[in-house]
Amino acid sequence: MNEGSKNLVIIGAGPAGYVGAIRAAQLGANVTLVEKEEVGGTCLNVGCIPTKVLTSAAYTLSSLKHAGRWGLNVHGTDLDFSQLMKRKQMVANRLVSGVKSLLKARGVNFIKGAATFLDEKKIEVRLEDKTTKKLEADKILIATGSVPIQLPIPGIESEGVIDSTGALSLTSVPKSMLIIGGGAIGCEFAYIYHSFGTKIIIVEMLSQILPGEDEEVASSLRNSIERSGIKIFTSSKVSQVVPAKEGKMTVIISASEGEINAEVEKVLVSVGRKANTKDMGLEKLGIKMNRGTIVVDDHLRTNLPHIFSAGDCIGNWLLAHVASMEAEIAVENAMGEDKRMDYTAVPCSIYTHPEIGSVGLNEKQAKEKGLEVKTGKFPMVACGRAQAENEVEGFVKIVAEKNSGKILGAQILGHRATDLIAELTLAIQMGAKTQDIIDTIHAHPTLSEPVREAALKAEGRPIHMM
Ligand SMILES: Cc1cc2nc3c(=O)[nH]c(=O)nc-3n(C[C@H](O)[C@H](O)[C@H](O)COP(=O)(O)OP(=O)(O)OC[C@H]3O[C@@H](n4cnc5c(N)ncnc54)[C@H](O)[C@@H]3O)c2cc1C
Repeated sequence: MNEGSKNLVIIGAGPAGYVGAIRAAQLGANVTLVEKEEVGGTCLNVGCIPTKVLTSAAYTLSSLKHAGRWGLNVHGTDLDFSQLMKRKQMVANRLVSGVKSLLKARGVNFIKGAATFLDEKKIEVRLEDKTTKKLEADKILIATGSVPIQLPIPGIESEGVIDSTGALSLTSVPKSMLIIGGGAIGCEFAYIYHSFGTKIIIVEMLSQILPGEDEEVASSLRNSIERSGIKIFTSSKVSQVVPAKEGKMTVIISASEGEINAEVEKVLVSVGRKANTKDMGLEKLGIKMNRGTIVVDDHLRTNLPHIFSAGDCIGNWLLAHVASMEAEIAVENAMGEDKRMDYTAVPCSIYTHPEIGSVGLNEKQAKEKGLEVKTGKFPMVACGRAQAENEVEGFVKIVAEKNSGKILGAQILGHRATDLIAELTLAIQMGAKTQDIIDTIHAHPTLSEPVREAALKAEGRPIHMM
């Protein structure tokens, strides 16, 4: 419910802040959006979008290299890296300017500057020209995002050690790169630079890459990327980086098989991100925090009833689409509605080759919750469209409640898995059953047919497999 015109100040214009600003303006709020860097935040400028320009180039490059399979003789598949980086920037700029136009059209007052709290309702913005501006708010949304975690490893400050932002602004393709951290971002950069010709080593502290993903999905992807020539050390740590001599650093890895020295041109630190909540005066307001993240209730409200928070700075999922949904719900509540944030069906996408899309519970998680489950798994190799596209790696797996067939989760490894997971996300959100998927006609030939086949398999009646 709109309680009349409210002054809403939003700090941070990433996918949480700018989406929250548009939604609040739709609801009639008088919105001021403060951003110290660039509209679009990490996502548009140094995250989701720039990386996907590079994964798309990696995919196109390897498709061209394998064009002979279709009888296509393609010559000269060299990468013009500086042209690619220009395209990456052009795509980001285009999206940023699109968002700026949307904000303008909605009447959002945008201020470029760094915000700090003066008190519970007053915010000071340090503008680019070093002057300050004071804002008074009825309601506030903190959407300040996250920053990369630094590792306390000797030598980590050496030249040539980069984070994800550094990996998105290289001027040439490195000959070799060691990636610390085998999570989604580390694996995506491994795929990108390996496709461009870089020799890649991944070092992951835990026993599987992509910790948190279904074990079968993670181990299948591991097999696939190891076959492509990427070296992976799991249950291993980088203990030291010795600065470069003749362009190469020595990285000391404490691996399960003993100490290993790797000589590489670049080290990419990709061990996760932490909430960006420092230097804003949050402590003096008495906002409840937990190890740097802002604590909110299921309405995205902090312990101060007029202050809400959304996105990476509340530390739930660290995904752009979750940040946006949280922000929509937070501002709806700020405007007087009564909405609860529901995390039952959060799709997670990993843009490697093959891709991963997952949602809800995997088999192990469901069993750990004491649920009786049945699963259906269908291999991509048995799908006509996958054969036509020569994209036969992977599978669709559906986890459903044993008696009712209610879908609890799904994991897809395969080409376009990040798009395919949408159907199963909607299924879980709506409480659908395997029978609902079975009753839905899936177009032929498409990569979506394996989704229906996995549902059929869960019910013991697959058509295109035994
Ligand atoms: C390399 C990489 C790839 C990624 N790929 C994906 C992906 O494919 N899919 C996905 O869902 N997620 C991806 N992510 C994660 C995604 O980018 C984040 O989850 C998302 O950007 C979080 O949105 P946010 O609005 O919470 O924060 P952010 O996007 O970080 O935005 C916060 C904004 O607040 C501003 N700010 C901070 N403090 C202040 C202040 N005091 N005053 C004013 N402004 C301030 C910052 O400058 C920033 O612009 C990726 C991240 C990285 C690093």
